Amino acid sequence: MNNNGFIVYIIGTTAAGKTNLSLNLGLDNYEIISCDSMQIYKDANIMTAKVTAIEQTIKMHHGIDLLELESEGFNRKQWKHMTINKIEEIQSKGKIPVLVGNTHNFIESILFNQETEENQIQQAAEFHLDGKEPFEYLKEIDPLAALKFHPNDHRRIQNSIKYYQNIGQLQFDQLDHNSEQFKLRSNNFLIIWPKWRKNEDLKIKVTERIQQMIEKGGTEEILRIFERLENKNNKLGGVLKGNGYCQFEKVYQYYKQSGLQYPNIDENFQVLLKQGAEKLINDTMQYTKKYIQWIKNRILCNSQIDIIANRLFLLEFDSIQTFQEQVIIPAQKIYNLFYQQFQDDQLGDEQFKISQQNLGNIKIITPEMIEKYKQIQKQKSRNSWKKQVCELCNKTMNGPFEIEQHFKSRFHKINVLKDEQLQKKKQKID
Ligand SMILES: [Zn+2]
Repeated sequence: MNNNGFIVYIIGTTAAGKTNLSLNLGLDNYEIISCDSMQIYKDANIMTAKVTAIEQTIKMHHGIDLLELESEGFNRKQWKHMTINKIEEIQSKGKIPVLVGNTHNFIESILFNQETEENQIQQAAEFHLDGKEPFEYLKEIDPLAALKFHPNDHRRIQNSIKYYQNIGQLQFDQLDHNSEQFKLRSNNFLIIWPKWRKNEDLKIKVTERIQQMIEKGGTEEILRIFERLENKNNKLGGVLKGNGYCQFEKVYQYYKQSGLQYPNIDENFQVLLKQGAEKLINDTMQYTKKYIQWIKNRILCNSQIDIIANRLFLLEFDSIQTFQEQVIIPAQKIYNLFYQQFQDDQLGDEQFKISQQNLGNIKIITPEMIEKYKQIQKQKSRNSWKKQVCELCNKTMNGPFEIEQHFKSRFHKINVLKDEQLQKKKQKID
């Protein structure tokens, strides 16, 4: 990839207006690459929230409709290879690639240059255990990592051992362990991060959006895709494992058994559909948590944050009505300023800077914000990874964060209630 080539990333959770923003950056000098592991499938349009045919006429889109439904999907390496070629192709036309998406694995494979280390670890297929079990061996070389990992997490255990034997350091030796693995591929980039200010509002929006999808063609699409993959005896199609489809397997099973003909459905079908939708809403919210955590861990706690901070813009918004004013207009301004600088001279390292003066009231990521995130990270760091078992739920937690999460969880509360009832019954019998 041409290191001087300028790349724009639009990151953010689902339902944060990424598509809207990507279509409205103002200048007409860019093409969009979708970074979404579900939108790569043809014929899976509604439940993947794919850009519509009309939206595709506004801007050139890449990275969508690449595979048949029957396909297993891309792994990260294949996706990266294909996308780097696409980026070069767009840049060679004198245009800017704008990467938009929700699949953080895909985005980080372009934003960061992990090749050297990836190769080092992958090539190092050989490792020795001095005749011990891998987990036992890990306990000896890195007892704290052994506390953190589940004994059955063979992949992470092996990687830790390989890392230690081939790179000569403990993989989780320092808090910023990410930083060495996550070096920026190039400095010529801009990241725009639209974000709902309140998580409650995001949840309302996610719920509304999923309900709309299901009502407006989504149910039909789900049934059609399950049927098609089943008929081809290919239930392994990657698409069925993804969010938007996997939550509805019971709906399809019932549909098939009952001999219903959509859109003639019965009450039972509706109940199952509703349950699937609820599951999808929950899974989507879980993923948004994971995604925000990814931004914090990989981007805000990155060792090159001094470079990233001048290129990362968090644009918070309060409602759909204020999106234009709080996200689109500031983003257009930022994009314009960056593009001008980029055109003025082929910039090297360090130089992509916008002064606060030029930005007016647009907030930039400050060292204080980063410090705050790092403090939170530290609290969760390896030093506090002590284990605790909840006997009621038969669950092992690592560290205060997981412990707190568990005791707040519905799962735990239900078990507490069940236990109380059980105790009461026992008392009666006694
Ligand atoms: Zn519990």
